[in-house]
Amino acid sequence: MKIKEILNRQRTISFEFFPPREADGVPAVVDVADRLQRFAPDFVSVTYGAGGGTRAFTEDITMRLKRREDMEVMAHLTCVAQDRDEVHGVLERLKAAGIENVIALRGDRPQGTEDDPPSEHEFAHATELIQHMRANFDFGVAGACYPEGHTESTSLQSDIAYARMKQDLGADFLITQLFYDNAHFYALQERAAAAGITIPIIPGVLPILSTPQIRRFTSLCGASIPSQLDARLDRFAEDNRAVREIGIEHATRQAEDLWSNGVPGIHFYVLNRTYSVSHILSDLHIGGHGGD
Ligand SMILES: Cc1cc2nc3c(=O)[nH]c(=O)nc-3n(C[C@H](O)[C@H](O)[C@H](O)COP(=O)(O)OP(=O)(O)OC[C@H]3O[C@@H](n4cnc5c(N)ncnc54)[C@H](O)[C@@H]3O)c2cc1C
Repeated sequence: MKIKEILNRQRTISFEFFPPREADGVPAVVDVADRLQRFAPDFVSVTYGAGGGTRAFTEDITMRLKRREDMEVMAHLTCVAQDRDEVHGVLERLKAAGIENVIALRGDRPQGTEDDPPSEHEFAHATELIQHMRANFDFGVAGACYPEGHTESTSLQSDIAYARMKQDLGADFLITQLFYDNAHFYALQERAAAAGITIPIIPGVLPILSTPQIRRFTSLCGASIPSQLDARLDRFAEDNRAVREIGIEHATRQAEDLWSNGVPGIHFYVLNRTYSVSHILSDLHIGGHGGD
């Protein structure tokens, strides 16, 4: 089923996984999805390595999950550093496997080639990939957007203009980058409304697991950590268990507030760990997603 149709009916809970480094890690990721099945996710997704290497595992897991009757799946697809023909080939395989939903992403150039300009054989932006998908396929299409702006954006206004372009080219909904202060998400909603964006914007929530890890993630994606939370992360920087509990507490508060403010869904960045998301959803009891 197209996720757009699910969003028309109800608010969604979704989980994002990432592929393993080696083929023998594939069953473990499927197992993570199995263990979260009790929360009745409306869809699950598997990230796609823009740098290559793990792309085959992404396709494999996405297709394995799609073959099951009990969950809808969204494939991630990045277009950077790949020829258009190669990307088209992935889309053909996804279509042949019965995948109905794809999030169209640009991705980031592999390390060491960050400053290389896109070749004429590439889709330079997610917008071009969306256009190609709409012209050649019948997928449900999602795109990414950024509450605090994308790291390469010249301004929040230009960023939202490109999000609007994603809608105009046929994206059904958008999912946001992680953020730790909901005010950033609500400000994004306001900018989006002012720019004429009417498709659903689903907030992405990442429960913090460790201080060094979240510092690395946020510095890469340009998200900020509120000062009080940051101070707590500092205090327990050596204690991953304590930080995981802080992460659960913060993400639970975030999700509660987002849900009560009527978001169309929440997309959890699971990082292939079930503990935090299970606690958050058990505590929240949102929709039919409490797991009981
Ligand atoms: C929900 C979500 C899922 C993700 N999944 C993955 C994944 O599976 N694999 C992965 O490698 N990465 C993933 N990412 C990260 C993403 O690939 C990076 O953030 C990347 O830097 C930008 O991708 P994009 O699709 O937003 O690119 P774009 O939409 O192309 O935007 C990139 C930059 O270019 C600007 N821009 C956009 N369109 C145009 C245009 N037409 N002309 C000029 N400028 C433009 C934007 O403002 C922005 O600054 C994900 C991010 C999110 C939020």
